[in-house]
Amino acid sequence: VKIHTSSKTYPVYIGKGAIQQLRSIIHGAEDQYTTIMVITDETVAKHHLHTFREQTGLERVFEKVVPSGEKAKTFDVYQDCLTSALENKLDRKSLILSFGGGAVGDLAGFVAATYMRGIRFIQVPTTILAHDSAVGGKVAINHPLGKNMVGAFHQPEAVVYDLGYLKTLPEKELRSGFAEVIKHSLISDENFYFWLMEGIQSLSGMTDPQMLEFLTRGVQIKGGVIAEDEKENGVRAFLNFGHTLGHAIEAEAGFGEVTHGEAVAIGMLFSLKLSIQLLGLDFNIKAFKLWLKSLGYETSIPAGISNERLLERMKQDKKTVNGAIRFVLLEKIGLPVLKEVEETVLLMNLKKFAEEEE
Ligand code: NAD
Ligand code: ZN
Repeated sequence: VKIHTSSKTYPVYIGKGAIQQLRSIIHGAEDQYTTIMVITDETVAKHHLHTFREQTGLERVFEKVVPSGEKAKTFDVYQDCLTSALENKLDRKSLILSFGGGAVGDLAGFVAATYMRGIRFIQVPTTILAHDSAVGGKVAINHPLGKNMVGAFHQPEAVVYDLGYLKTLPEKELRSGFAEVIKHSLISDENFYFWLMEGIQSLSGMTDPQMLEFLTRGVQIKGGVIAEDEKENGVRAFLNFGHTLGHAIEAEAGFGEVTHGEAVAIGMLFSLKLSIQLLGLDFNIKAFKLWLKSLGYETSIPAGISNERLLERMKQDKKTVNGAIRFVLLEKIGLPVLKEVEETVLLMNLKKFAEEEE
């Protein structure tokens, strides 16, 4: 798949064995790389770093292993990466290679965006979720007061997505990533949505051809949105479907308690209900909810989180402008719109959402 943005066009190689492309991508670079810094996390290193080395056979490489998950996206780890980069004499022509999930990708991308005012980087994603995060050029670390609050737009040179690495993903992570696949289908293509719903009845039972198909579709959909709107002045906001409430749940539950995708799934269910109520969306919400449940998703907001707190969080969302909470809603499946929703309407619907679940 080719991704076109106003700042750059780059390839995404997807498939089993895609990693074989990496060497020639690196050697084929117009402006040769001096050194390569591989940033990966403890879990990915344990499972795959050894084979990664063998598969790629790269020279002039040094590896930086950071803590797994959100713990990678801190100021401390960021600074530590910069220190290693300086100590290992990375220069402007060096390459940063991110090998891991969305967290490592966001961190490594931010290091690349800021080291010496920006050097090149390549994404080698290892989670389902990263079909989303590795494409599009948004890179960031977290601030104690908010997720992804410190970041940049920095497009990779290439994305090499070898599905072989996904084999070791625990079911919880499959579930987290698959929520973004569902999101891509809902905001863009009804047929894709029904194809998923009919085809995917269990996450651990997904076949390789199914994964290849939906990850490719997901990347294409995201790529299409990015091509129109790299810096999120318009349609890119549609990718936040399910995320306004989802982010609030993630933050309130404590990051890591509920995964990103699990929170987004609840957020999508809520947004679909809002869409039915406010825009008259024609959608079988019951079937959707049953499907989510059968895949192991929670469909209600975790106990102990108050609606008022969620509302406060939603107001702090980066997408909020002048305090108005903007939701991505659907007029039809595949037809998203951005709509400001009144606080009172939101509170009422959050209440209803909780009651319906009981
Ligand atoms: P992650 O990188 O934290 O990976 C999830 C967990 O799976 C981690 O513990 C990791 O060590 C482990 N893991 C990764 N690959 C594995 C493998 N092959 N086998 C076994 N375990 C493996 O998170 P994620 O779910 O990939 O991504 C979430 C992050 O992505 C969040 O920080 C989110 O903010 C970010 N994100 C960014 C964008 C973007 O556009 N930049 C979009 C969506 C999400
Ligand atoms: Zn997301």
